This record gives sequence, structure tokens and C-alpha cells, in this order.
Amino acid sequence: MVPTEPAALRCCVVRRLSEEMVWMSGSWKPSPTARTVIVGAGIVGAALADQLAARRGDDVVLIDRSCPGLGTSRTSFGWLNANKKQPRVYFDFSVEAMRDWGRLAREFGEHSWYQPVGNLAWARSSRAREELAERVDRLQAWGYGAEIVTASRARGLEPNVTIPSDAEIAFFPDEGYVCGRQAAQALVQRATSFGARLITDVEVSGLVVSRDRVTGVRLADGERIAAETVVCCAGWRSPELLAPLGIDLALVTASTPGSGTRGLTVTVDGITLRPDCVIHAPELDLRPTGERRLLLEAGDIDTQVDMTSGNEYLDERARELLTRAGMVVPGAASATIVEASLCVRPLPLDGYPLVGPVSDQHGLYIAVTHSGITLAPTLARHVTLELLGTESPILRHYRPDRTSREIPQQRSAKRSC
Ligand SMILES: Cc1cc2nc3c(=O)[nH]c(=O)nc-3n(C[C@H](O)[C@H](O)[C@H](O)COP(=O)(O)OP(=O)(O)OC[C@H]3O[C@@H](n4cnc5c(N)ncnc54)[C@H](O)[C@@H]3O)c2cc1C
Repeated sequence: MVPTEPAALRCCVVRRLSEEMVWMSGSWKPSPTARTVIVGAGIVGAALADQLAARRGDDVVLIDRSCPGLGTSRTSFGWLNANKKQPRVYFDFSVEAMRDWGRLAREFGEHSWYQPVGNLAWARSSRAREELAERVDRLQAWGYGAEIVTASRARGLEPNVTIPSDAEIAFFPDEGYVCGRQAAQALVQRATSFGARLITDVEVSGLVVSRDRVTGVRLADGERIAAETVVCCAGWRSPELLAPLGIDLALVTASTPGSGTRGLTVTVDGITLRPDCVIHAPELDLRPTGERRLLLEAGDIDTQVDMTSGNEYLDERARELLTRAGMVVPGAASATIVEASLCVRPLPLDGYPLVGPVSDQHGLYIAVTHSGITLAPTLARHVTLELLGTESPILRHYRPDRTSREIPQQRSAKRSC
């Protein structure tokens, strides 16, 4: 198994802060001040660093215990969509994010991390067929690209997959995928070109608090960095960072067996006739990941793995995904597994983003979410607005200290990628 966050990977840009940034003898050095410290350079922290640095340049410091994009964002399925997002306000937010990815990708010019290749999904049981048809109806009524297609049209769209002729099939032309690691690294690189400072391979071991204000961060090597605002973008590890301040972030506990936070994604290689779209078949989700390669995931297998799963068991589950892939993509029958990653979702209890300041802790801002690959650029844009002093009407729905009554009506603890 390849761990989610390899400890010893080299990073593209490593710059330690200058001496002036260090906390000295209990008082802040007056200048220069690290105005915003972002903890975590996953897709969320990277997108934020990029947007904030475009406006604030060298007032931004981004810190990661590993290297940019090597946390959950690296192993994520990365489906870019608003497909199952409800209610309307959350759907609209996700659609805005899909557009923002298109805009971002155009700004970056040549790259391979943004792939708006469409999504082909099919269902076979009567319940699943009905659900798919209803979903397409709702999405069409909301102006989203979604259509029921015949088997022959589906085969025309994606000749390299086997689609049963009795299936209900839908195509979502505006969806696609984003490769989290590459996108995060590109965003971080641009942020540093705007003047942001990046510190890697050192953990933020704690937040520095003075009275009721967070005034900086403490690094595992003993260094302290002053900040006007600390933004927690530490993904599923955020509770560790926030708990010492008495903040009980409403995330599903990653270590709880069967919590739904774990996922197993598997990369297989050696597929000559590879599909181009994202595919959602009844027992398998797959998408391209580089030439001749596919990334595989399945909801039922995700629920069968957790922290306590041994390598042998995980390898067996990975082989099960490969077997399923062979049934959907004929060219995958002889493929080989090159990577299997057990990863953790930052999964809010109600499924919605946890974004905003914390009422009784000035100087601290939280940005933690599931579906972070989809939402990152829009989340980052709205968070940047707030950090610069303008409240975002959209983020008002997602405050980290909301009560259950304030949550938009959706089932609790559910994930919809
Ligand atoms: C199996 C799976 C499938 C998914 N599928 C989809 C999908 O199809 N579409 C979608 O939109 N989303 C999907 N998601 C969710 C999505 O991947 C996450 O929401 C997103 O990657 C979270 O990004 P992040 O930046 O918050 O977290 P991460 O990528 O985990 O980044 C957090 C960073 O913080 C750093 N860090 C943590 N603690 C500290 C500390 N104390 N000090 C310094 N650094 C620290 C870590 O090293 C890491 O780099 C999926 C997730 C999983 C697991």
C-alpha cells in the first residue's frame, strides 16, 4: 500500500521564513508581519494561497507538514460536479465552482490537471434507474447539463466501455475531473510567484493564543510564526489542531470504524483502449489518470476499509476493484495495479463545508470541506473576500459553529462527491 501522505517526498519550492518572522521573547517583531498563515497546502489551502497572494503577495505564508497536494487531494477521485448536490444553494455553489475551474485552467494555459471530459453513468436495479431518471429531471430543471441517452449513443460517446443494453444511462457533458496533486502544486507555485512564502515538511504543532486571540502558529521544530489571521486548511487533521483551543469541529471522526471517511483508490496501468470520460457504473467509479491508466473507486469497498485494515486485506480489495474494472473496460482485464491508497475524507457531520471565523476566537478562520476538489477555487475566492473584510453571503450558510437548525435541509453525515 502507498500511504496517503508519503513522509519523504521532495518538494518543488521550499523556502524557510526569515529570522524576522520568528516570535521573539514573547512579543511580536513589528515588521514584517506574516499577516495570514495558511495551515495545509492541499487543494483548499493551495487555492486560497493563490487567490490571497494575488492580492496580498508576501503577506501570505503557507505551511504543510509534507508537500503541497500530497494529502487527501492526491488520492481523491477528483470528480468535478454538482450532480447530487442539494439543496439548491449548495448546488449553485458547486456549479459556480465548476465554472471557476474552467476559468482557472484557462489562466494556466497548458496543463493536464483539469479535464472537463463529461461523465457517463448508468443504473440497472429498478430503484437505481428511477433515482437516476429523477436526478436527470431535477438537474435539467435547474439548467444543468444532464440527459438520458440510449445505449447506442452511450457507446458512441464512450466506445471503450461495456454498457449493458438494459441499463438506464445518463450523460453529464459539463462534468469531468481534476487531478488534485498537480492542481494544488500549480496553484502553490503561482502563489509563490505572487510572493507567498511556502514552508514544507514541518508540522504546525499548535496555535499560539493570547487572551481570546490566535496570534500565530508554533511549528514542530520550535519555531513560531506571527499572524494576524491563521487559516486552518488542514483537511481531516483539522480537529487535532483545533481541539486544544476547545473547538470541537463538526467532522466525522476519521478513526471510527465504518464512519464513511475512509476511501480506497486504486491506479491501474496498461490499458490501451482507455475511456476518456468519468464513468459511474453500478459497482465501480473510474476515470483516466494519465496515459494508459485508470483510477478506480467503489462506494461499497470504501465502507469495507478503515484504519485497522491490514495490507493483505487492502490488496485483496484493490484486486476486487481491478476485477470489476475488467468487466466495465475490456482493456482493463490485463491491467496491473500500480498504486492503492487508503485515504481519509474530511467529512463534516452534515456533509456541508465548514468555513468561516470562529466566534469567540479572533484571528482564526476555518476552511474544511468534503468535495474539496470541486469546491476549492470558489471557496478560496469567497474566503479571500472575507479575509479582506467583506462578508460572503454564500459562506453564511456554512459557518463552522452553526447549529443543526441552521444547516440547509439535507440528510446528515452524508457525502455527495
Ligand atoms: C476516496 C475519496 C474520493 C473523493 N472523491 C471526491 C470527488 O470525486 N470530488 C470531490 O470534489 N471531492 C472528493 N473527495 C474529497 C476531496 O478529496 C477533499 O475534500 C479534498 O481533497 C480536501 O482537500 P484539503 O486541502 O482540505 O485536504 P488535504 O488534501 O488533506 O490537505 C490538507 C493538508 O494539510 C496538511 N496538514 C494537516 N495537518 C497539518 C499540520 N498540523 N501542519 C501542517 N500541515 C498540515 C496535510 O499535509 C495536507 O497536505 C474525495 C475524497 C476521498 C478520500
